[in-house]
Amino acid sequence: MKIAIIGAGVSGLSCAHELEYYGVNPLVYEDTDFIGDREPHVTANLDIADRPIKDLLVYFNEMCHMDIKPVNVVKKLTHYFPNNKRTLKSDNFGYFFRRGKEYNSLIGQIYSKLKKTRIIFGQKPDVKTLSEENDFVVVANGRPDITKKLKCWNELVSGWIKGAIVKYDFDPTELIVWVNRKYCKSGYAYLCPYDSKKASLLLFVPYISKIDIDHYWKQFIEIEKLEYNILEEFYVEHFSGYVYPHKFKNIYFVGSAGGAISPLLGFGQTNSISMGVFSAQSIVEGMDYESLISNVIKKELSMYELRKSFNRLSNRGYDNLLKVMALPGLKHLFYNTNINIAKYGAGALKLGNKIFKKE
Ligand SMILES: Cc1cc2nc3c(=O)[nH]c(=O)nc-3n(C[C@H](O)[C@H](O)[C@H](O)COP(=O)(O)OP(=O)(O)OC[C@H]3O[C@@H](n4cnc5c(N)ncnc54)[C@H](O)[C@@H]3O)c2cc1C
Repeated sequence: MKIAIIGAGVSGLSCAHELEYYGVNPLVYEDTDFIGDREPHVTANLDIADRPIKDLLVYFNEMCHMDIKPVNVVKKLTHYFPNNKRTLKSDNFGYFFRRGKEYNSLIGQIYSKLKKTRIIFGQKPDVKTLSEENDFVVVANGRPDITKKLKCWNELVSGWIKGAIVKYDFDPTELIVWVNRKYCKSGYAYLCPYDSKKASLLLFVPYISKIDIDHYWKQFIEIEKLEYNILEEFYVEHFSGYVYPHKFKNIYFVGSAGGAISPLLGFGQTNSISMGVFSAQSIVEGMDYESLISNVIKKELSMYELRKSFNRLSNRGYDNLLKVMALPGLKHLFYNTNINIAKYGAGALKLGNKIFKKE
């Protein structure tokens, strides 16, 4: 079987790994001359966003046949809302993963497991030509350009991220999240540590153009009085979209190109790896791709409903949400059970506004 994969990112290489598991060796085309992310940073994966998956490392092992090691376990979740701060503690809220070009980054780890996949670097192949020359093509280029061209892409959210690598004293198990309409509209900022001295700090502001992001970043640093020592900065365009169909003729769309990024909080790694693996299973076993990925897509569509509620939220609404999430029964329900956040999140927002309306 002749299979071409466009893009050697997490979704493309997860697809290649699963194909190898079935004894099929694909050819991967990668635009850059390296494996890994252009911008070094640390990402987080939280159990609440990955549900119904209970433990991501177990999922990667059992479902994706990959033994992946995180940088750290997330044990502390600190939320800075406009007028409220709350820290939650647990043995395991999820994991931090290193992104970059290192061998121990998420992509570096997946790459190191490939035995027979051939990668051609510095190539941006034409999808139509590949589709004619191969049995199947997997589009895993992390962007919507090909999906847009084939008229399968509907934009849900777009905006800009400014990121920085910062030095300070950190708890390496603490994920810090900030929200405040003054500097991120209905977006968010978060800090993920590498270790106790270094972290990545990211601000996502939706529905703006690149020239505006520095203004919001300045506001963020000033309002939150952040004293981190900035080592380097970067900018990334962020988008999330609904793709349909996810398979067009003999072409599969996976990862961000296939709409894997959550429109609510930008989580995309788990979905991207899952879609890579499912596309390989569909190719080899002849299973229906749309059915295999339906749970991923359904979850993200309900996250989009929540995103629309977030878009309308005032700073007071954010504070009310934090208060309602801290009510003992609800806190237990959200963090310690396997409930679907997307389904009940909008209810929590309404409840918060009702209970704390008069404060
Ligand atoms: C700054 C930032 C922070 C993030 N934080 C988190 C987080 O905390 N948690 C989380 O779950 N997710 C996070 N994400 C999202 C996550 O990184 C993505 O969901 C995931 O990387 C998508 O994987 P992918 O394989 O689809 O694309 P990518 O990982 O982007 O890989 C695409 C690959 O295709 C190559 N390519 C592009 N065009 C072509 C072409 N025409 N031909 C050949 N090759 C091409 C690229 O060079 C790249 O190697 C973050 C993303 C960014 C940018």
